[in-house]
Amino acid sequence: MNETAIEFRDVVKCFGDVTVLNHLNFSVKKGEKVSIIGPSGSGKSTVLRILMTLEKIESGAVYVAEQPLWHEIREGRLAPAGERHLREMRREMGMVFQQFNLFPHMTVRRNITEAPRHVLGLSKNDANARAEEYLQLVGLSDQADKYPHQLSGGQQQRVAIARALAMRPGIMLFDEPTSALDPELVGEVLAVIQRLSQESDLTLLLVTHEMQFAHNISDRVCFFDKGEIVEDGPPEVIFTHPKEARTREFLKLD
Ligand code: ADP
Ligand code: MG
Repeated sequence: MNETAIEFRDVVKCFGDVTVLNHLNFSVKKGEKVSIIGPSGSGKSTVLRILMTLEKIESGAVYVAEQPLWHEIREGRLAPAGERHLREMRREMGMVFQQFNLFPHMTVRRNITEAPRHVLGLSKNDANARAEEYLQLVGLSDQADKYPHQLSGGQQQRVAIARALAMRPGIMLFDEPTSALDPELVGEVLAVIQRLSQESDLTLLLVTHEMQFAHNISDRVCFFDKGEIVEDGPPEVIFTHPKEARTREFLKLD
């Protein structure tokens, strides 16, 4: 109980001269559903990319499932966790990007079975059964033999969600999963995430501009600005009577 799924401890991340995360302290409990909101360029994607080990950090420490992902600086050098350990940690997390990033030359089924077969070593039959299970969850059981270009953007994003879930991660990271979609396709993707949020014990960390949605599904909402958490609290507070002027301004509450 009360295990920590994600923890950033005093994390500094720079790109050249620009400090993108400024001594960030942030944590998510196991099973918690947390949304990150904030203006463009505030460091939201960087947080997710550090978790996926797509970016390094300058200093501080990051833990996933209470295991170090990035170690603290020692002797002036940041020691990343060992390669094998990193692979295991990455497996703990599934990520869905703004761009769906499906393999264009593979059917929907193969998009989903590829990693379970080659990373987890599942047999073809087991991987296919798993694909079936998650396609059903996202409402696309009848699309398994299609190629990505034959699907709408909303359907492709639902396949991307099924593909991430098929690795059975404990943590799902979403980076603006509906920002690239035509408005009429946003609802079907949000509905899938909402279902996941209500019906699973997954830890969910979601970057979004869909405020109503964040309000509905989150246990907690974090408002990011300039690489810092300005305010962090339950959605009822953040969206209706936040304390900080910057939050009020961002949400146009004044
Ligand atoms: P957000 O997701 O909140 O819009 P990001 O985390 O993508 O913000 O970016 C935070 C800041 O870091 C921005 O100023 C962005 O321009 C900068 N940045 C992000 N990635 C890179 C990169 N690979 N090289 C240089 N600057 C980057
Ligand atoms: Mg971003």
